[in-house]
Formats: sequence, structure tokens, C-alpha cells
Amino acid sequence: MLFDSHTHLQFPQFDGDREGVISRLLSADIKVINVGTDLEDSKKAIELAKKYLGQMWATVGLHPNDAVGQNFDISKYKKLAENDSVVAIGECGLDYFRTPDDDKNRQKDIFLRQLESIFAQTCRYIGKVRRVNTQYTPNERSRGNFQLFLFCFQDYVPW
Ligand SMILES: [Zn+2]
Repeated sequence: MLFDSHTHLQFPQFDGDREGVISRLLSADIKVINVGTDLEDSKKAIELAKKYLGQMWATVGLHPNDAVGQNFDISKYKKLAENDSVVAIGECGLDYFRTPDDDKNRQKDIFLRQLESIFAQTCRYIGKVRRVNTQYTPNERSRGNFQLFLFCFQDYVPW
């Protein structure tokens, strides 16, 4: 069995062949976590996970690149995270690659609010840190038992 901890099968790019992709995944014994990137996308990730119980799971979160432009209501995310198929928060984090300086504090605030509230429900975090030139130390480290799936892009590397 293989396990893909970061998919987005709920994305519209899969609308034309989602069931085909899933069928091929399942026949190859590949289990997945569909990572939510905003409230509506997280709902779609949960719906897929509920349809394929025991083979798919979901996360709930607001992606850092979407954080600034959205009306963020943490209570709606927390409510979604109560679903049995939700195994982590994410995709959230800090991504300063395309974020104007004026929006970085709002992105950070939304990330920390997700980390502090939803994380307490799941104790797992799938997120990203990109082009963040400050020390990345979530306070939740002190809670002890948690799992972290973190992918990072620190600096641009010219090809
Ligand atoms: Zn992703």
C-alpha cells in the first residue's frame, strides 16, 4: 500500500476524470489525504473522503495564498474539522513568495488562528512555509504529541 498525504482531488481540474483517477488509485491500493485550501474546497475534500471511507481522508484549512483575500471565519473551519474524516489542518502556513509586505501580517494572523484553534482538534498539521525569513516555531511544539507534514520553499533558485 502507498499513502499520498497531499492531494487535491477535489480541485476542478479533476472534474473531467475524477472518478477515473480515483478508480486507478484504489485499484493500485493507494490511499490519500485530500487537502482543503479554503472553506468550500475543504467541504469538497470532506465529501470525497466520506464517499471513500477508509481510503480517503480530508483536511480543513485556508491556504496562505488565499488567506488575504477571503473573509476568514475560524468558527466555520472548526465546525468542518469536527467531521470524522478530517485528519489534520491544512493547507495553511506562510507563503511570502507572492505576498505584498502589507498583507504578510494578515496572512500570519490567519495562519496562527488556524493553528491554535483547529490544530487542537486534530493534532496534525499539513502546511507550507515559503520565502519566510523568520524562524518558524509553532507554539504547539510544546504540546508534545503531534504530527507535522511540512513542505518548505525557502529561497528562489535560478535554473
Ligand atoms: Zn497543496
